[in-house]
Amino acid sequence: MAKLGRELRAQGLDITDLSLGEPDFDTPQHIKDAAKKAIDDNWSHYTPVAGYLDLREAVCHKFQRDNNLAYKPENIVVSTGAKQSLANAILSIVDMDDEVIIPTPFWVSYAAQVQLAGGKAKLIRTHLGNGYKLTPEELETAITPKTKLFIFSSPCNPSGAVYNEAELAGLAEVFKRHPQIYIISDEIYEYINYSGRHYSIAEHEELKDRIIVINGLSKGFAMTGWRLGFMAAAAPIAKACEKIQGQFTSGTNSIAQRAAIVALQSSLDATKQMVEEFGRRRKKVMELMKGIEGFRFAEPDGAFYAFPCVDHYFGKSDGEQTIQNADDFAMYLLHKGHVSTVTGSAFGDDQCIRISFANSMENIEKGFRCISEALSKLK
Ligand code: PLP
Repeated sequence: MAKLGRELRAQGLDITDLSLGEPDFDTPQHIKDAAKKAIDDNWSHYTPVAGYLDLREAVCHKFQRDNNLAYKPENIVVSTGAKQSLANAILSIVDMDDEVIIPTPFWVSYAAQVQLAGGKAKLIRTHLGNGYKLTPEELETAITPKTKLFIFSSPCNPSGAVYNEAELAGLAEVFKRHPQIYIISDEIYEYINYSGRHYSIAEHEELKDRIIVINGLSKGFAMTGWRLGFMAAAAPIAKACEKIQGQFTSGTNSIAQRAAIVALQSSLDATKQMVEEFGRRRKKVMELMKGIEGFRFAEPDGAFYAFPCVDHYFGKSDGEQTIQNADDFAMYLLHKGHVSTVTGSAFGDDQCIRISFANSMENIEKGFRCISEALSKLK
């Protein structure tokens, strides 16, 4: 959608982009300064595959400070973005024909990476009525003797769902009964949370050795282009991930690593300011969505996306184009409303679209005016 949007813009159309999957803010100054200093200090050589030791120590400090989780540097692998951390973990855990449970809607790369590893993604639908969160009963029902791994994100991209302490405890109880299952907990949106404290399922000590926590600097520090992610896992899993990464990319960029140490050890004031602004936009987006006929949605507790169900419009037409599913709906908004969003089918849900509020208040309001106008033509 971003690519199509750019092409239409190049043709001179005024496209409002509500499809962005990254903060629209700049990286905080103190982190940029640390990177500039790292260049001048000649941090220009190959880096250790798992990351500099002092960065892995800074990651441990972050886990202790923010999540009350004790890890050692041997548990940490730093990668070229959280996406590579996920790929490392999935490739090290999943063997041919292993089943991997993924609640939908899910972040696009989970199922593709499972497929690359030779595994079978078992998609379990969650429901609007439950805020797009998987219940312990649904999880239990999905488990078979072949289940090797469970992958989820909280806060969730695309739904914005955040599992609270009790909900995670419910899932943890199920996992305690199934000791063969590993859990990947993708917490890349940890700081972008409107519901209070972030909880990690890794706080369940009995499960900690089977949990791989994925995180990174992309979203919380507005550093998507720097490509800096990390994982925490039991030492044998971390070792396996390090081996895989050693053959694909080696250690990630030296300058980004030096800057990451500063990011993880400094105050989170800049992150908090960014999240406050996301919070204001979220409030506005909720108001605007309530004004759109037929949108059904859960309020996102985290991340920067709204995920309305748009099935009200299926079967309707503007006389030229008939909307059959979320793909058609997103395309209709792009071509007739000049607003880019993302179809839910990219996330395993063909009844919803993802609307990003990682854009200015002005653009959000403009985008919703265009959506409203385009939808009024559907009969
Ligand atoms: N996990 C989720 C849920 C995401 O939304 C994203 C990026 O959009 C990633 C992982 C990948 O993050 P990174 O840019 O650090 O590779």
